[in-house]
Amino acid sequence: NFVSAVVPSDEIGVRFDDIGALEDVKRSLNELVILPMRRPELFSHGNLLRPCKGILLFGPPGTGKTLLAKALATEAGANFINITGSTLTSKWFGDAEKLTKALFSFASRLAPVIIFVDEVDSLLGARGGAFEHEATRRMRNEFMAAWDGLRSKDSQRILILGATNRPFDLDDAVIRRLPRRIYVDLPNAENRMKILKIFLSHENLDPLFKFDQLANATDGYSGSDLKNLCIAAAYKPVQELLEDEKQKGEKTEMPSLRPLVLDDFIKAK
Ligand code: ATP
Repeated sequence: NFVSAVVPSDEIGVRFDDIGALEDVKRSLNELVILPMRRPELFSHGNLLRPCKGILLFGPPGTGKTLLAKALATEAGANFINITGSTLTSKWFGDAEKLTKALFSFASRLAPVIIFVDEVDSLLGARGGAFEHEATRRMRNEFMAAWDGLRSKDSQRILILGATNRPFDLDDAVIRRLPRRIYVDLPNAENRMKILKIFLSHENLDPLFKFDQLANATDGYSGSDLKNLCIAAAYKPVQELLEDEKQKGEKTEMPSLRPLVLDDFIKAK
């Protein structure tokens, strides 16, 4: 079930440089995860620098939490396991517990590894009361027990990284196990500009294109919204060319698309 969710560190293909803005988040992750995984000897003295067993990334949808988790694994040289609710739930009674046990024993063999639990609220959310499915409850208890059971030697090399848009739905027991919580915010204008520069770095832009104008015109957009906007805008010159060909009744041999202008983005909004 979860074997398909494993990506070796060198095949993830995303680095911190591919993520625009979020500098504070990257800095915290560097201290909390990358350094301890890359240089464990620096963290093995005394009691104060204890490796962190769990981190929660929380914030609005589309702000790059999944992207950060993947890039973090690359930067830390760790393998990556992506778990969602459906990975560990099973319609067969008892299977969810076995899967959870297997996940942790598999992870210790794959270490250093980051177990990314996307939508952690849906997998390990608040207890569902009397109507909660017995199998779900047992799976969650098994998950917590296995998590607590990580030996301190392993905890330096196995990190549980949760992400959620709904931090208030999380159970206290889960919150306690994710002692470091990092807010991943929507980008402000300056940060939208940094993100747009990443998306548009290989595009044919009009020399008069002004990044700050586009950044100012996209208040409230997440990184994901900005990406969708750029894709829609990039389609405009293609659309024009196709319409032109339709009118002429013939295909252009070597289509040369006109450069993107600000107007393409405004119209794509
Ligand atoms: P959700 O909470 O909805 O799962 P998320 O916070 O995990 O969202 P991602 O899935 O990481 O967000 O982001 C979606 C896409 O948006 C990414 O694949 C990426 O293309 C783009 N994106 C978001 N934020 C950034 C950013 N800061 N820099 C570059 N790309 C970004």
